Amino acid sequence: MATCLHGHHLTDEQLLQILDVARDWALTNGVVYKPFSSKDSKDGLSQAQCAPFSLFPSVVPQRILQQAVDCMVDFNRLMYRVAQDHEFLKEALKSVIRVDPFVRGLWDIHCKVREEGIAQPVSLDLFRNDFMMNVTDSTKTTDAGIPPSSALELKQIELNTISASFAGLIGATGHLHRYTLDLAGKTYSEKEMPDNDPALGLAGGMVNAWEEYGTKSAVILFLVSSIESNVIDQRWLEFKVHQLNHNIRIIRRTLLDIHSRASLSEDQKLIIDDCEVALVYLRAGYSHDSYPSDKEWSARLLMERSKAIKCPTVQSQLSGCKKIQQELARPGAVERYISDPAAVQRIRATFAGQYSLDMGPEGDDAVKKAIASPDKYVLKPQREGGGHNLYGNEMKTRLEEIGSTPQREAYILMERIFPLPEKNYLIKTGLPFTLTDIVSELGIYGVHIGSGEKEMVNLHCGHMLRSKVKGTDEGGIVAGFAALDTPFIV
Ligand code: ADP
Ligand code: MG
Ligand code: MG
Repeated sequence: MATCLHGHHLTDEQLLQILDVARDWALTNGVVYKPFSSKDSKDGLSQAQCAPFSLFPSVVPQRILQQAVDCMVDFNRLMYRVAQDHEFLKEALKSVIRVDPFVRGLWDIHCKVREEGIAQPVSLDLFRNDFMMNVTDSTKTTDAGIPPSSALELKQIELNTISASFAGLIGATGHLHRYTLDLAGKTYSEKEMPDNDPALGLAGGMVNAWEEYGTKSAVILFLVSSIESNVIDQRWLEFKVHQLNHNIRIIRRTLLDIHSRASLSEDQKLIIDDCEVALVYLRAGYSHDSYPSDKEWSARLLMERSKAIKCPTVQSQLSGCKKIQQELARPGAVERYISDPAAVQRIRATFAGQYSLDMGPEGDDAVKKAIASPDKYVLKPQREGGGHNLYGNEMKTRLEEIGSTPQREAYILMERIFPLPEKNYLIKTGLPFTLTDIVSELGIYGVHIGSGEKEMVNLHCGHMLRSKVKGTDEGGIVAGFAALDTPFIV
């Protein structure tokens, strides 16, 4: 349906030349990652290579981007308040906790720390709120070959409360796309290709949190996995923190490092390798695989017990469960936390239909609906990082197996979004270099620092776009489905 706005008038030879330059530009300027590979180095990671990216930016209507940006401060506040509400989390997650050992593990830590008394009232959240542009009327098109903005609606996919990635690589991708547009002879304005440096905003949040902790010699600890393909994205944040305040030292440690070498002082300072930790920034610990033994769980408990500021706290991580998103979509739920009706409206306007699968008549109805129309829904477990949802026949088969057992309570059902199709060239191992039908997901980054009722920082700080071949169900970049992209604003 849509034509690629920038590449369609170029010969194959010109396109290949642009591709060649773009790849080297990406390597030179840090649009890179270290994908997993079984036959390479001993840690299973190959050398740095270009992260998957689109050759040109993809179209996003101004109204859509603005709407996504305008609700970010509301969402930051909502998610912070939800994380503070123990009773709501308990009620909303009780069915999931029964059947999902990972969520139960996190919940147990939350309860234990809460009973003992929370040592650090301040918390930092670095969120990414993800949306797709749902096509409400595919019969209408503009001159550019895409549906007009009036036939599109912004729908939330999920809000990530832990390890929200790509703020680093995406800033550089914006510059890469300016370069490829120049090479293609396509002019653009600042409005069409706006400045975007989310990593700087997130790093700013980390610096603020570090200052809040108030000890000049204390470090920021990046909690990482021993095998990490998206390490350069994390380094971007590290380097931006350094750019903002070169006196802050950053160390990288794993849960096992914490288990074997970290301790709490009498006044609950987190100490590792003679460093006092001001802030723990989690880029690991969001999946069950991060906790293969009790050692990792006890390391997580130690961190949560400590006086270090956490990004995120375990309760903030829990508030990012898909189950919470589904419970917040119920009438009156957002209103418990947000009193301004206009803000409630900004939040609610982005909600897609979501259904509880808890045992009982409501869940039974949802199972029936999904089995009857498998293409209209997505079945989602409480997992992060892409690759866990079930669609179409696979969803139907799973629901036929578990639809009448409590196992279904590990999932929620979400209405399926049918995103705006466009065309672009995705540069990615395993994909042919050809003009391809793609769909995109737009993410907005947010920073929040709170302490009890107090809101110290609440802002949005940039966007990301990622695109995947149309018809691919899942969406993660590291998980291997999507490529970094940039919005070209029309
Ligand atoms: P994760 O935390 O694993 O990223 P998501 O909810 O973001 O989980 O789902 C992963 C991917 O699945 C998304 O990036 C998106 O491409 C796709 N997806 C999720 N929900 C929907 C939906 N309701 N409609 C269409 N696609 C969806
Ligand atoms: Mg997620
Ligand atoms: Mg996601």
